[in-house]
Amino acid sequence: MSSASQKSPWETLSREQREKLFPTLTAAQIARVAAHGKRRQASAGEVLVEQGDYNLPFVVVISGALELVRNTDTGEELVVVYTAGNFLGDVTMLSSRRSLMRARMRDAGEIIEIDRRSLQAVVQSDAELGDIFMRAFVLRRIELIAHGLGDAVLLGSSNSAGTLRIREFLSRNGHPYSYIDLDHDSGVQEVLDRFHVDARDVPILICQGKLVLRNPTTEQVADCLGFNAGIDPGHLRDVVIVGAGPAGLSSAVYAASEGLSTLVMETTAPGGQAGSSSKIENYLGFPTGISGQELAGRAYIQAQKFGAEMMIARRAVRLTCDHKPYMVEMDDGMRFAARTVIIATGAQYRKLPVENLSRFEGTGVYYGATSIEAQLCGREEVVVIGGGNSAGQAAVFLSGTAGHVHILIRSEALASTMSRYLIRRIEENPAITLHTNTEMAALEGDGQLERVQWRNKQTGKIEERSIRHVFVMTGANPNTQWLNGCAAQDKQGFLKTGSALTPEDLASARWPHSRAPYLFETSLPGVFAVGDVRSGNTKRIASAVGEGSIAISFVHQVLHE
Ligand SMILES: Cc1cc2nc3c(=O)[nH]c(=O)nc-3n(C[C@H](O)[C@H](O)[C@H](O)COP(=O)(O)OP(=O)(O)OC[C@H]3O[C@@H](n4cnc5c(N)ncnc54)[C@H](O)[C@@H]3O)c2cc1C
Repeated sequence: MSSASQKSPWETLSREQREKLFPTLTAAQIARVAAHGKRRQASAGEVLVEQGDYNLPFVVVISGALELVRNTDTGEELVVVYTAGNFLGDVTMLSSRRSLMRARMRDAGEIIEIDRRSLQAVVQSDAELGDIFMRAFVLRRIELIAHGLGDAVLLGSSNSAGTLRIREFLSRNGHPYSYIDLDHDSGVQEVLDRFHVDARDVPILICQGKLVLRNPTTEQVADCLGFNAGIDPGHLRDVVIVGAGPAGLSSAVYAASEGLSTLVMETTAPGGQAGSSSKIENYLGFPTGISGQELAGRAYIQAQKFGAEMMIARRAVRLTCDHKPYMVEMDDGMRFAARTVIIATGAQYRKLPVENLSRFEGTGVYYGATSIEAQLCGREEVVVIGGGNSAGQAAVFLSGTAGHVHILIRSEALASTMSRYLIRRIEENPAITLHTNTEMAALEGDGQLERVQWRNKQTGKIEERSIRHVFVMTGANPNTQWLNGCAAQDKQGFLKTGSALTPEDLASARWPHSRAPYLFETSLPGVFAVGDVRSGNTKRIASAVGEGSIAISFVHQVLHE
């Protein structure tokens, strides 16, 4: 099918939107780009990038026309035509992922070609061009996602947890895909027949129009879409960062922007716990709040802009810490050598064993009690679950504003788990009621939490209340099992760093230096812990981001030792 006769999906965009997506460089800007690349003639029909290629060149059109097309089930589809002054590319140019489209000269002309490294140099050194390219790349990716113009088709059902898992994985990784809902799309049988799959296999992912995966793991999805294919395990990195939550992403941005070779490895998708927050209202600079996914998405692109490599859907399972360079081993057996390591694997809040919990997280179920949550509760009654000091502090704090605070604990009394002063404040406070031997039995509501039920474990009696705010303060478990005791930990397993390390900790770790450990340095020289995984950390996004950046300044010192 001739692409000339087709309509581009961007035709509905306004002129202003098109100019932002497909800007035209001036002669002076083209000259600055040309200094980094190769200027050459290209003939009509020449394919500059094949769909599925890795290490794509960045191309500026000087004359002639370049068309971007994609292969679909029904043939070739035109995406856009670039003419003089336009440039080819989206965020894939900055990562080592493969191209979602084919780029082919439509009319012969002159082009400038630049490789990925030189493009990164332009973006980092030329602020004006950097802004133009990054804005266009990000907006193009947003449009691809909005139009589902990727190399993946997901067949799923809204009643399947696997479908939700893969949809979340793809969108948190910023990967465009088309979605066909088997519950609602009547023409779907034809697609199922063509790929010889059954609706019972959902979710089904079709990669690049050929490979069919039935209910795949996130690792299989990442492999199929080539997320990690360009990452070379063969060379020694200045810093390997484990975990891409706010702490890991912040370390990645600072490390890569300061010229360190940087690899980030992440079990699921960038963003960590913050990625699941629907609206973060207390992060500096976002007065109207920002979703965790948006914050993470921006940080992810920012880290890649500076050249950080991102390994997705891979779990670090071991740190070889008895010799240098350190080795981080992944679940697929790959090993990465590192001069320094940043551990940013966070913690997992202990969850309530209650159905529907995830539906209400952030919309009635909270894991922290700050003045923001207090404002959300207003004068309404609230529930605090947990018998530790954090639960006690939250209850006392919330009692200042909430209508009434109910503390639920599963044990007989608070004495063994909470400080005496907090117990006294709770006992003396008429705005707080302690329910012992009690556990949460159900959360109910349509979209927002509306009602809760709690059960007395001794009598079995269930009580239902119209309460819309529940604070889960049952503690968190650090993601440190994979370290196998390599670095000193506190009683709960959080990593001890800097001045929190005792002489005994250092002696048993055979600390080799005359200097004391740096801020955020663990008992292993050159291995740092930042964010929620660190003992004594304040469990906030801003602290995680701050610690991630500070650690990099000490990484430089270690690298110079
Ligand atoms: C629902 C919710 C809402 C929140 N809202 C707010 C808020 O509004 N404001 C605020 O300040 N704080 C909020 N917090 C707290 C905040 O999200 C955390 O303090 C912050 O995310 C900690 O960042 P981190 O990078 O240290 O760890 P995490 O965010 O936990 O990230 C750790 C990352 O490491 C990865 N990982 C773990 N183990 C491995 C491994 N072995 N190999 C590779 N990767 C691994 C995980 O998949 C994860 O992506 C919220 C938390 C939750 C759960």
